[in-house]
Amino acid sequence: MSWGRYPPLPQRARAANWCGGLPALLASAAKEKGSTLAHGEGRSYGDSCLAASGEVIAMRRLDRFLDADWSSGVLRAEAGTTLADILAVAVPRGWFLPVTPGTKFVTLGGAIANDVHGKNHHRRGTFGRHVRRFGLLRSDRGRLVCAPDAEPALFAATIGGLGLTGLIEWAEIQLMPIASSHVDGLAVRFGDLGEFFALSAELDERHEFCVSWVDCAARGKTAGRGVYMAGDFASDGPRAVENRRRPGVPLTPPVSLVNAWSLRAFNAIYWRKASAKRRYVRGGYDPFFYPLDALPNWNRIYGIKGFQQYQALIPDAEARAGVQALLDAIARSGKGSFLAVLKRCGGDASPGLLSFPRPGVTLALDFPHSGHLEDALFPRLDAIVHEAGGRLYPAKDAHMKGEDFRRAYPDWEKLAALRDPLLLSHFWKRVAQ
Ligand SMILES: Cc1cc2nc3c(=O)[nH]c(=O)nc-3n(C[C@H](O)[C@H](O)[C@H](O)COP(=O)(O)OP(=O)(O)OC[C@H]3O[C@@H](n4cnc5c(N)ncnc54)[C@H](O)[C@@H]3O)c2cc1C
Repeated sequence: MSWGRYPPLPQRARAANWCGGLPALLASAAKEKGSTLAHGEGRSYGDSCLAASGEVIAMRRLDRFLDADWSSGVLRAEAGTTLADILAVAVPRGWFLPVTPGTKFVTLGGAIANDVHGKNHHRRGTFGRHVRRFGLLRSDRGRLVCAPDAEPALFAATIGGLGLTGLIEWAEIQLMPIASSHVDGLAVRFGDLGEFFALSAELDERHEFCVSWVDCAARGKTAGRGVYMAGDFASDGPRAVENRRRPGVPLTPPVSLVNAWSLRAFNAIYWRKASAKRRYVRGGYDPFFYPLDALPNWNRIYGIKGFQQYQALIPDAEARAGVQALLDAIARSGKGSFLAVLKRCGGDASPGLLSFPRPGVTLALDFPHSGHLEDALFPRLDAIVHEAGGRLYPAKDAHMKGEDFRRAYPDWEKLAALRDPLLLSHFWKRVAQ
């Protein structure tokens, strides 16, 4: 299933062991099922990583490094290689991922297909901006090499192309130099959204990495409070690979452990514990970028019904009013979770046709799944996003209406025209067909 375990559409997987075996896998999946889809680490939350046919090609074993030039930081690897695999070889040599999402357990193919963004979007844009070229296998055209100057239309459509334009076999990316693997991090709490926007306007320019946690349960005078976090790689120190793994959540409880009561209590304690003064602390990169990776299977805490993430981007001009309206509606509903993230996106355009980020502010938060979400809360939130001219992130989505998707991503028809006829996700069937 996907990371949110909702919608409950278990998939059958055929494992790819060698790129050479992919054409036969594609052909047999098509013959038996009509269509299929590449599957990476399954870290997408909704149904964009689930095949409409219920049968995916598991790419994770295609994890070989093919080439690396450690003087320039250019690395080529098979598409199932994870960001964790890359960090393990790159960090000791003084290189880091130029863009990383909040988990390192995603594959190169998945990072390209969703054109993922990270805490430094305002500085370096999306992952796709750092992809030099990749190999693409299509059922109708065979093997192609795509780059900005080779098959440019397929290059653009595949970055953020939701896995629909072909199977990415390998990719070449440009890494970012670091002097140390330590990060000088700052955390300071804010009392409302006005303070968040003031902090962001002042500090985003000064720091490479910026993100905020927001208390989605706070109402009245405390509404919009949160903790602003920023950081930069230290200019000296060790270059050490980190991988904290505690024992994970061993089983899925019958009901969600996140509820209105636990949420309010937890959020209030977390906010009070954060410092009211600006304090810098030096620490490792793993807790700074990947706090959730330390707890394997944390997605199980939402119980057997799973959870949905709602990630919206509100353009700059409407950001203050739009985010406030979203938070008000969420706080009134009593739903939500501890994991609520606010982040400003910058103006660096992605080469990707359907890339999610735009200049503006993105709000992302998790909700234990219940019928109430799709019947009541999400339509209210969708109306606010629509009114503000915003959009939802397909990588996190399990509910978006087709008309909302097509309005927010006007280039969807270009992607539809370049789709590999044998690749189809549950998401695409829902929003585009
Ligand atoms: C804790 C957590 C934090 C996250 N934080 C962020 C964040 O900060 N920013 C962000 O942008 N995202 C974030 N995400 C989402 C995640 O980064 C994306 O969903 C990512 O695409 C998942 O990669 P994956 O390898 O698991 O791919 P999957 O989820 O398995 O698949 C994702 C898409 O990639 C396609 N795909 C996979 N491999 C290939 C291939 N070889 N060829 C063609 N298509 C392929 C699939 O068909 C599918 O459409 C987060 C997820 C989690 C669980």
